[in-house]
Amino acid sequence: MTVPLLDLKRQYTNIEADLWDRLTAVVEGKAFILDRPVAELEEAVAGMLGVTHAIGVASRTDALLLPLKLLDLAPDHEVVTTPFTFFATAGAIHNAGGRPKFVDIEPDTFNIDAAAVEAAIGSDTRALVPVHLFGQMAEMAPLRATADRHDLMLLEDAAQAIGARQRIGGEWKRTGAVGDAAAFSFFPSKNLGGFGDGGMVVTGDSGLAERLRRYRVHGGAKMYHHEEVGTNSRLDALQAAVLLGKLPHLDGWSEARRRNAAWYDARLESLEDRGQVVRPVVRGHNESIYNQYTLRVEDRDGLKDHLSSRGIGSAVYYPVPLHLQECFAYLGHREGEFPESERAAREVISLPVFPELTEAELNTVAEAIEEYYAA
Ligand SMILES: *Cc1c(COP(=O)(O)O)cnc(C)c1O
Repeated sequence: MTVPLLDLKRQYTNIEADLWDRLTAVVEGKAFILDRPVAELEEAVAGMLGVTHAIGVASRTDALLLPLKLLDLAPDHEVVTTPFTFFATAGAIHNAGGRPKFVDIEPDTFNIDAAAVEAAIGSDTRALVPVHLFGQMAEMAPLRATADRHDLMLLEDAAQAIGARQRIGGEWKRTGAVGDAAAFSFFPSKNLGGFGDGGMVVTGDSGLAERLRRYRVHGGAKMYHHEEVGTNSRLDALQAAVLLGKLPHLDGWSEARRRNAAWYDARLESLEDRGQVVRPVVRGHNESIYNQYTLRVEDRDGLKDHLSSRGIGSAVYYPVPLHLQECFAYLGHREGEFPESERAAREVISLPVFPELTEAELNTVAEAIEEYYAA
């Protein structure tokens, strides 16, 4: 039995008719640009997350880039983030005109070490961009306190964590509800994915929301009148229609991912006792949506080849931490500077965890891992 890392066809097959009704309505209504489906999705996502404003944009890359652009960063202005993330996080900081300032990760959650952020802040720091990696939120309470103390924008990269929750002061908060703004991705492989690119910024700040709505249509609230130079970054109405069809299923899908994760957790416990794998750690005050189920393992590349020879999909997110990327050589970092990110890059492997996996498939994956370490 082969097991894919992700099989979107199964999800699609379950909701096909509804999605086509929605797509047909957009095509027949010829409302392709920022029309009803986009406004409806913005309202629905804002409602689900418990925030007041949501602005659909072309991708998560833009969802992070646009709020950063509005900070008018100078080349020596720093934005604090993690080196263990998808490239786009630091790419957006660079493209907004600023300088990524990396802080190493916590070894157990793979998220930025919030307690170490304070020490990284200088007079040129303008913003904090924590990433909620693999579906679990970074520690938002200390990050919020640090941002407030130094008057910095707190911008969540929530591309992998739509709907994840964290209990802060006795209250569950969803992604986007603690930061000044948060950036979401509707890239097909995310928990809520479209049929192409898409993204969204959410914020509780009306002034920021208004500027973003303007910025995504070339900086003019009124057609052909431009208060500032913006860009074209709109969420497609066709994508919004697909996402509206999928949104009601999101919580159920995330629950199924948690069930799959719990299944692996139980099955892989003995391998962890023998020191060959480390299962993902989700803190008691977090609820992960498991965009990825990521192990640390001994001899990662060997395990990956073994799984692949058995027809089992897996992936390494991410093999090269961002401080060691060629394009960031100008930052002057060396190997050894962010040891936890570097170690994670050597040890991590993500397994199939998508909602529609069968128990037989989970079993096939677990057996192949057991077989590898028994040899
Ligand atoms: C997927 C991802 C992005 C990129 O999102 P796009 O919508 O493809 O631009 C950014 N950051 C993280 C952490 C991601 O996982």
